[in-house]
Amino acid sequence: MSFDSLGLADGLLRAVAGQGYSMPTPIQAQAIPVILSGRDLLASAQTGTGKTAAFTLPLLQRLAPNGAPGRAPRALVLVPTRELAAQVLESVRTYGEHAGHRAAAVFGGVSINPQIDLLRRGLDILVATPGRLLDHAQQRTVDLSAVQVLVLDEADRMLDMGFIHDIKRVLAKLPPQRQNLLFSATYSNDIRRLADGLLRDPARVDVAPRNAPAERVSQRIHPVDKPGKQPLLSHLIRSGDWRQTLVFVRTKHGANRLAEQLQRDGIACAALHGNKSQNARTRALADFKANRLRVLVATDIAARGLDIDQLPHVVNYELPNVPEDYVHRIGRTGRAGAEGEAVSLVSADERDNLRGIEKLLGRQIPSSVVEGFAPGSFRPKTPAQQPQQRQAQPRQAQAPRPQHGNEKRRQDSPGRPQAHNGHSRHHNGNAPRRDSRGGRPSRFH
Ligand code: AMP
Repeated sequence: MSFDSLGLADGLLRAVAGQGYSMPTPIQAQAIPVILSGRDLLASAQTGTGKTAAFTLPLLQRLAPNGAPGRAPRALVLVPTRELAAQVLESVRTYGEHAGHRAAAVFGGVSINPQIDLLRRGLDILVATPGRLLDHAQQRTVDLSAVQVLVLDEADRMLDMGFIHDIKRVLAKLPPQRQNLLFSATYSNDIRRLADGLLRDPARVDVAPRNAPAERVSQRIHPVDKPGKQPLLSHLIRSGDWRQTLVFVRTKHGANRLAEQLQRDGIACAALHGNKSQNARTRALADFKANRLRVLVATDIAARGLDIDQLPHVVNYELPNVPEDYVHRIGRTGRAGAEGEAVSLVSADERDNLRGIEKLLGRQIPSSVVEGFAPGSFRPKTPAQQPQQRQAQPRQAQAPRPQHGNEKRRQDSPGRPQAHNGHSRHHNGNAPRRDSRGGRPSRFH
């Protein structure tokens, strides 16, 4: 099977060849002819399958560029995050290199005014996150009445992130006559419901296993004092015999420092960030993939350009400031058919970040204290509580933050050792209360 047989125009084939792709991926081979025929599509495909080109190439072909100034977009691609928006826009530009379309991306977290200018100048293809698109719609700075093709990319992630209402509001603003393409890594009931309401007699293309990484990832929090994070990480890596562990930190400096500390602990690792030369990055990545390095310590930005996913372990050494980055980070784990594990080391100062992430996920992340690394020195306790607690459980789990009256308390399930400090915001029944410092903690395998 070659690209030539898919019915794509010359300019697009040249752009594909320019990328060095010799063969379409399975999703491309199946989806491109369907999309070119104008039919609706329900596609199950994860990141890494080539799904972006699978919808971008036929989209470019179906919408010959319209040179009119101030033209309204005829294709709308909805995506969950700003970085996916940027990636899709990049693909549109790459594959549309010889086609002359105008494209733009609008997403939240940045000033709206430059986006308004872009929209005013007119475009053919608009890539957007739902919230910001609605902002534009409300301000009447975008005209959605000409949309002929709608793509929902990573629809499951959009639903996970709570965008269903925004999506519905966007759909209500589109003309009813249009082609709809829905890409999702999973087919949950919610996706099925969305697809049923949106797609007309869709072709179905399935190239992903039924359970997407996001579902297979087990997420866990270890509350810990800030100075305890590095020793705890070394302990987890060694006691769990972790390999191919991607560790996320916030800063370049932090990445260097942690990599040095881990090296000192005898753990082969490298730091990856924007100040590293391309050579150093390529080498580190090759060593990591070949198992010569056990750990890569990376900033979000450095990790974004890396062709690595399906890792057994992802560690949030520091929680990201932007909750969406958490979802993106943990999407790196989960191997085909195997469970991936995303572990977050959370100190008291990160409680707001955690709250934002849990709000985004729509659920609390199971938490357990690793014995020997319980936080506590910073937590103010009432004088009445202190002695009994100490007596009852000398090494008890302590939450890294005070209980707030309006927060839901997590319940410990029966039969598990109880930490009864009354500050159990960080615990729930899904997680073991603690892991053994010696031996092999059960959750690490
Ligand atoms: P995606 O699943 O769209 O995120 O794409 C994953 C990666 O596959 C990207 O880095 C693409 O550049 C690359 N890619 C897309 N199509 C092909 C192809 N036909 N052959 C080789 N690589 C591809």
